[in-house]
Amino acid sequence: MSQPPAKIVDIVDPRSKILSHAQVDQWIAAERGLGRRIGFTCGTFDLMHAGHVQYLHEAGKLCDRLLVAVNSDESVRRYKDPLRPINPADQRMYVVAGLADVDAVTTLDEDRPLALLLRWKPECYIKGGDYATSSLRSAPAVEEYGGSVRVIPHNFPTSSSATIGRIEAIARHAAPERVAPVEYRGLVLLDRDGTLIRDIPFLHDPALVQLLPGVGPGLAQLQDAGFALALVTNQQGIALGYYSEQDFIAVNQQLFRALAPFKISIAKIYFCPHSAADRCECRKPGTALLRRALRDFKMPPERTFLIGDHEADMQAGSAAGLRTVWAGGSFAGECTYVARDFSDAVNWILATQKQSVQPNG
Ligand SMILES: [Mg+2]
Repeated sequence: MSQPPAKIVDIVDPRSKILSHAQVDQWIAAERGLGRRIGFTCGTFDLMHAGHVQYLHEAGKLCDRLLVAVNSDESVRRYKDPLRPINPADQRMYVVAGLADVDAVTTLDEDRPLALLLRWKPECYIKGGDYATSSLRSAPAVEEYGGSVRVIPHNFPTSSSATIGRIEAIARHAAPERVAPVEYRGLVLLDRDGTLIRDIPFLHDPALVQLLPGVGPGLAQLQDAGFALALVTNQQGIALGYYSEQDFIAVNQQLFRALAPFKISIAKIYFCPHSAADRCECRKPGTALLRRALRDFKMPPERTFLIGDHEADMQAGSAAGLRTVWAGGSFAGECTYVARDFSDAVNWILATQKQSVQPNG
């Protein structure tokens, strides 16, 4: 019997390696016809790092042709993190396909690759990590059809999550040559819908974002007075399936664009993605998000204000010990101050803060 052809590393357009599942069927049949053994691995490959490259390089050595299934955006959101991935699937697949060690790339829509393994029966199923092959849930199925399972340990102490954590940590630190950041004199927590922008039920179209009167100049005044600004918003449309976290983020980005002419910096966005039926602690009038904001900004409740347009905002704020400012329509409930509009809310906060600030504080 003649030896199968040696693996040839060619310079090819990464796009030519990206295949649909049906194309993989044909590709595998052709490669097997030439006597080549198929290796299969899968993953998210969101922020490509040295650990990915090393593991795919080692995986390539275990087979004649390496097929990589990249998790679809939807599967990452569903099974890993609703706010990930950072890079969309077409770009993640393109980067993986750009590696010489990778011969073909396709999508993985499930949380585990079992269906694809049974469809293609690769001679070798490879995973990167520090666990025993016996702990891989799909391993018995692979061994049953006669395939082998290999785990490649990571040689680099890195991960996409660690990279993101490092970026977050760096972002919180001022560069040495910059002037030290001003200590916040207080914190203003802001409801979003009906307080900063026109209230549209289950808003998810960025084109419909419309700042309410006085919001831009008002937030600028608060910021100039030394207040940190953060959003605290209920978004049960996510849990109810009216829109996704990504739609929510797109709306927030449009809000930031609308605030850009006023040079407003919203420091953080706290959101509850649950529905009222979920009975979580974060949905206002629950106080979990407010308490988290106080911790994050190291701010006592006495120096924190909440502006909102719903009774749940006022209840949450007062339960967390904050001063609550109503900036909605007519109101009969309880709050610290009923403002005529957003400008009035801002003026009241500035006047109140002035009274309570110590001469040296
Ligand atoms: Mg509201």
